[in-house]
Amino acid sequence: MSEPLKLVVAGAGGRMGQMLCTVVAAHPGCALHGAFDRAGNDAIGTHVLGTTIIEDASAALAGADGLLDFTSPDASLELAKITADTGQVHIIGTTGFRADQEAQLKSATRGARVVKAGNFSLGVNLLTALTKQVATRLGTEFDIEISETHHRHKVDAPSGTALMLGEAAASGRGVDLTKASERGRDGITGARGQGAIGFSSIRAGEVIGEHTVIFGGASERLELTHKANDRALFADGAVTAALWARDQGPGFYDMSDVLGL
Ligand code: NAD
Repeated sequence: MSEPLKLVVAGAGGRMGQMLCTVVAAHPGCALHGAFDRAGNDAIGTHVLGTTIIEDASAALAGADGLLDFTSPDASLELAKITADTGQVHIIGTTGFRADQEAQLKSATRGARVVKAGNFSLGVNLLTALTKQVATRLGTEFDIEISETHHRHKVDAPSGTALMLGEAAASGRGVDLTKASERGRDGITGARGQGAIGFSSIRAGEVIGEHTVIFGGASERLELTHKANDRALFADGAVTAALWARDQGPGFYDMSDVLGL
């Protein structure tokens, strides 16, 4: 039986941060080693499951095995420099990275053990695999549209998961998503481009996350949908990823590696 994995939660005052603290503390294979948030966050100085939320990331990480990070792209980039130095496992659930930030992240984490996923749920990762499979079989006479619905607080669009599904569809079709995607339609847009992969985003209330991939043909339509009912789903996946990464060599992994998909 290995020692419990000592994990630190970044953004511990946030929606995912709070859930991560709860899941880590309850998991028999892990221990909540520390928690931090950015200066000025109301959670600083409060106690969570035997740990105090502090603002010094390096102090929280001292002596830990890994970091669970669902924060913001800028914060994750800074944190990646620390974990690349220390060799700690870094699980990144943050979404909304621009292409240049994504490239900086990959270069900052060279030699580190990172698992980054736009979505840590098993169901969504299966949906991603299915999307690729269907896109491989159905030609461009089927329009691919990806729709996502999230709570009103979400700051990035389309969601990281929608982009993950878009990448899967594009890879199934053998096209480059940056060239094929149609986003932000408004006004007289002209007809839909054949072979385009469309995205639409809905923000409403407290929806945790819903994604549908539509394959719309002239006489039939296939729709694949996933609905998250509880944020614990993502926290459980992040903890599974951290336990998996403990035994891996350096690399930039995603959830399909963890799940063996
Ligand atoms: P949130 O705004 O509730 O929480 C983010 C927290 O990060 C806040 O407490 C904020 O103060 C903190 N933070 C920001 N900068 C920081 C810094 N420099 N140092 C320390 N803490 C910092 O948001 P949320 O709903 O919890 O989502 C967080 C991120 O996780 C978003 O990018 C969201 O899209 C993503 N997310 C990913 C998954 C997944 O499965 N990959 C699931 C849900 C949410």
